[in-house]
Amino acid sequence: MTQVTQRPPFGEDSASDVLAEGTVDAVVIGGGAAGLNGALILARSRRSVVVIDSGSPRNAPAEAVHGLLALDGTPPSEILRRGREQVRQYGGRVVRGEVVSAESAAPSADGDLRFTVTLADGRSLTARRVLVATGLTDVLPEVPGLAEHWGHSVVHCPFCHGWEVRDEPIGVLGAGAASIGPALLFRQLTEDLIYFTNGTDLDADSRARFAARGIRVVDTPVTEIVSGPDGALAGVRLADGQVVARRVLAVSPQMQARTRGLEGLGLPVRDLPNMARGFVSGPAGATEVPGVWVAGNATDPVAQVGASAAAGALAGADITKMLAIADTDAALHAIAEVNA
Ligand SMILES: Cc1cc2nc3c(=O)[nH]c(=O)nc-3n(C[C@H](O)[C@H](O)[C@H](O)COP(=O)(O)OP(=O)(O)OC[C@H]3O[C@@H](n4cnc5c(N)ncnc54)[C@H](O)[C@@H]3O)c2cc1C
Repeated sequence: MTQVTQRPPFGEDSASDVLAEGTVDAVVIGGGAAGLNGALILARSRRSVVVIDSGSPRNAPAEAVHGLLALDGTPPSEILRRGREQVRQYGGRVVRGEVVSAESAAPSADGDLRFTVTLADGRSLTARRVLVATGLTDVLPEVPGLAEHWGHSVVHCPFCHGWEVRDEPIGVLGAGAASIGPALLFRQLTEDLIYFTNGTDLDADSRARFAARGIRVVDTPVTEIVSGPDGALAGVRLADGQVVARRVLAVSPQMQARTRGLEGLGLPVRDLPNMARGFVSGPAGATEVPGVWVAGNATDPVAQVGASAAAGALAGADITKMLAIADTDAALHAIAEVNA
């Protein structure tokens, strides 16, 4: 399997705010759609919030975000640039950096939760609440020539780039049951679809369903993805030497939540049937670890940009509610102490 290197898409907007001193209300780990929308809600509630972002969102290779109402066709880097700007407009900070450790710390004198987050460069921050929005890593099948086309003519999501590859000769690189649904979805977009089983099972029922929809099946193993003289994807080489001409290949990557550095939070992780691995979360992204929320692809691998942003907003709102309750409890406690 090839782990896709997440490349920073940002050149001109690499500005980083100064890390806050003292204790902030919330730290958001990850500044993609989920993290920035969570931070926006927190900042607009006048909560001190710091987003720490290592600058490599999952969709960095894509030219544009599609299927997102009102912003369809906008480059991912532009959406994030605007998001950072809006968070800063309300006093939120966005800091460039990679979190290498996050763990609970001693509570405050009045018993409120505290967390310590440490960055790769040694800086650290204390926060009352944590929103984890680190996204996921796509792990591609180990086929020579495949990774260089990732996000362009090697695609995974019919809703993200299906329209852009309509009517092209498309191949689906089979990865078992996870590839059958996407094959039927890509069939909606082209008459010319070939399913390469590539050593994975395809049961008789699925073969019959594919045949009924005019999807051809190739069982000879795939050895290489072939590029043309212009560098574009040109075909799929099989073990018998034959090259099957294709312009686009749909794959089902393994999706793994980006958990590195966050082990100290003790968040439970689960395996999902669609080959994904993610943090476990409940309503509004709350987790079983008090004071820690998760939003976006780190907990929901199929969430697109809109759903990830919405999840971040819900988590941000939930955090502000919990902070309001904690502040009210603390105020009551202080009054009781004065009157005692
Ligand atoms: C090729 C491709 C094309 C896509 N096209 C579309 C599309 O057209 N439309 C659509 O709706 N969706 C699309 N998606 C899906 C989209 O990428 C996700 O829905 C979205 O990125 C999820 O947002 P997120 O905030 O959860 O994660 P991300 O956007 O991945 O953001 C996570 C952020 O956390 C940071 N981070 C991770 N770990 C740390 C750490 N330890 N410390 C600090 N920062 C950290 C990362 O650098 C990153 O900036 C596409 C995905 C791919 C792979």
